[in-house]
Amino acid sequence: MPIKEKNYWLETVSAPALLHAGDLPENADVAIVGGGFCGLSAARALAKRGVHAAVLEAETFGWGASSRNGGMVLTGLKLPVPTLIKRYGRETVRKMFAASIESIDCVEQIVCEEKIDCDFSRCGHLEVACKQTHFDGYEESAALIQREFGHGRRIVSKSELRGEIGSDIYFGGMVDETSAGLNPARYVAGLARAAQRAGACLHDHTRVERIEAESNNGTRRFRVRTSRGIIAAREVMLASGAYTSEATPALRRKIIPIGSYIIATEVLPAALAQELSPHNRMIYDSKHFLYYYRLTPDNRMLFGGRAAFFPETENTVRQSAEILRRGMIGVYPRLRDTKVEYVWGGTLDFTLDVMPHAGKIDDMYFAAGFAGHGVAAATWFGAKLAGLVCGEPNSTPFDGIPFPAAPIGLRSGHTWALPLAGAWYRILDLFT
Ligand SMILES: Cc1cc2nc3c(=O)[nH]c(=O)nc-3n(C[C@H](O)[C@H](O)[C@H](O)COP(=O)(O)OP(=O)(O)OC[C@H]3O[C@@H](n4cnc5c(N)ncnc54)[C@H](O)[C@@H]3O)c2cc1C
Repeated sequence: MPIKEKNYWLETVSAPALLHAGDLPENADVAIVGGGFCGLSAARALAKRGVHAAVLEAETFGWGASSRNGGMVLTGLKLPVPTLIKRYGRETVRKMFAASIESIDCVEQIVCEEKIDCDFSRCGHLEVACKQTHFDGYEESAALIQREFGHGRRIVSKSELRGEIGSDIYFGGMVDETSAGLNPARYVAGLARAAQRAGACLHDHTRVERIEAESNNGTRRFRVRTSRGIIAAREVMLASGAYTSEATPALRRKIIPIGSYIIATEVLPAALAQELSPHNRMIYDSKHFLYYYRLTPDNRMLFGGRAAFFPETENTVRQSAEILRRGMIGVYPRLRDTKVEYVWGGTLDFTLDVMPHAGKIDDMYFAAGFAGHGVAAATWFGAKLAGLVCGEPNSTPFDGIPFPAAPIGLRSGHTWALPLAGAWYRILDLFT
């Protein structure tokens, strides 16, 4: 069977994401641009408080990164803790780490409250060391995380690693039992239905083209021009992630869209799946240019990485299939003859400082920069932004941290600078 160039997760969603909401309303309290985890979580939270929220999605709900990802619901932030403490200070970083734990609880609570059938499971994550020096750093890192945040991570020596992963190429690992896994396409579809049930208006195939602020008798409102007409809103929330477009240029200047690609194999025999990942962990390695992988609930090996740095196109998706297959066999030689059935790509929203950011830009609420932690973070930030709109004080530790613009060459996702950045990370992987 030829490889299907499509997202495996979408094949597992039986019910449509939502029933059509009908014509665009003339007015809303809050217009939300983007229907992924962030926009839908915000819409759900707003609607539950009686705020009229309209979600405007250019494609279909969950079309962006939210249905394409690895479904890993991870503790911590992207940057190492010492770097974070140096940058933001110990107290702020304690709150940031606590927010990462709270964001997983937030996903679990939504899944339970809304009865979303998305295979959410607290299976934990495993980080595996590609070099002895990386493993040597794990002990110190786990001790620091215990000391600073009271959060436990367990070191797994090379001799014990077979109990965690059916591969002999790594130098050891570190387990975090708090992390979780889920099926992202089912989760985002369930989130869309939950937002709609709560009273939010969801409009797919509605691309926001321009947003104008206007003042009427001292009251500021926004006119949001879309491909399906104009909607007036008291507030606007930008939840467009890596797919942020020229419709919101100030935010676009801050986002670095980076491609990531995933393959999924045929269904593996249960005994083989059990051998490859005995505890069904969410696994990633210690490189900058890393691989992340896991079993799907039906026992396929889902294997992802930055096979190309560019956002997804037909070409990059096709090339990624073979690059990732070779990577997978490098980790698991037993999968040499296993068929790869799916390949797809998606775009992550990086920022120059590799941090999530939220607050206001051009007077509009926004949250972005979740990179590889967006399943939990985008859900949590969406709910927090809803609180802000309702007048709650900004309680996130990310409030007010500097938000640098991206260098011009890294903004559009299609320039010469992205392969250079990719080459730089490969060099770092050789020497660090
Ligand atoms: C391949 C891949 C693997 C990943 N793996 C993981 C993982 O395992 N764990 C993890 O935590 N994170 C992972 N991530 C990151 C995570 O998926 C994202 O951080 C998260 O989904 C971002 O959610 P979001 O709602 O902010 O954005 P998105 O889900 O990208 O949604 C933004 C939406 O905005 C819409 N939009 C943009 N512009 C407009 C406009 N002008 N008008 C209307 N709509 C617009 C887009 O169509 C899109 O649907 C991965 C990402 C990718 C691509």
